[in-house]
Amino acid sequence: MLNSVGAYLKFFSSAILDFVFPPRCFGCDKEIDKGLICDKCLTQVTTGALGTCPVCGLPKSDNEECIHQLFLSGVRPHTLARIRALGKYAPPYFGLIHNFKYQQKKKIGKILGLALANLVNSDPVLSRARYIIPIPLHPARLRERGYNQSLILAQEASFCSGITLLDCLKRIKYTKSQTQLDYQHRMKNIRDAYKLKSEYTGLIKDSRVILIDDVITTGATLSEAAKTLKENGAGDIYGAVVTAAQV
Ligand SMILES: [Zn+2]
Ligand SMILES: [Zn+2]
Repeated sequence: MLNSVGAYLKFFSSAILDFVFPPRCFGCDKEIDKGLICDKCLTQVTTGALGTCPVCGLPKSDNEECIHQLFLSGVRPHTLARIRALGKYAPPYFGLIHNFKYQQKKKIGKILGLALANLVNSDPVLSRARYIIPIPLHPARLRERGYNQSLILAQEASFCSGITLLDCLKRIKYTKSQTQLDYQHRMKNIRDAYKLKSEYTGLIKDSRVILIDDVITTGATLSEAAKTLKENGAGDIYGAVVTAAQV
C-alpha cells in the first residue's frame, strides 16, 4: 500500500514538474512533451554517421580534410584499424554528451548506446568484431562521477548489437583533464595508463575487438588502450565513439 501511494505521489509530482518546467530536448534545447530528446535529434543520432578516412581510419565527413594532416607523420601509432563516430562534437551531440557525462543523465546513454549498436551493425568491418570493450575510468574518477559513461554506452551497444561485452581493461594511472593538451602531450600524459585485468588474458587473444568511448579528440586515449590490448595478443582493434571533436 505504502509503495503504491509512494509511486502515485512520485508520478503526481513529476507530472506537476513537467507542467511547470516542461522537459527540453538535451540535443537542441527545444521544449518536448516528455522524454530526453526530440524526434528530429533522435533521427539524426540514430541515422547520421561520419565516414572514415581511408588513410588513418579516423572519422570524418566526405568533404573535409582529415585531422591526421595536423600531426607529424609517424606520430600517430596506427593501433586502431578503423574508427567510426556518430557525429561531430556539435549539436545535438554536444548537449547530449555534456548532460550524459557531467549532469548525471545516465539514461541518455541508452539512446547513444543503441545508436552505436546501429553504427557497428551497419559497418562491414566493425560488425565482425567479437567483443565490445569500454574505456575504463580510474577508480578515483569513478568515485567522483559515480559511473563510467563508456561502460554504460558499451553495455547498451553490446545488448543491442549482440556483440559480447568485455569490461576487461582497468585504468591504473590517474591523470588530470586532457582537454587543454595537444596530441603529443596527451600521448605522454596517458602512457601506460591501462592494464588488462588478468582474468581476461586468454579471452582476447587473436580476437577482433571494438573499443567504445564517448568522444575522440586526438585519438590518444583509444590508441593507448589499443596498445594495451595489442600487447596482450588482441587481433584487429576498432573504435566506435559518439562524437569526434576537433583538437
Ligand atoms: Zn532536439
Ligand atoms: Zn586520416
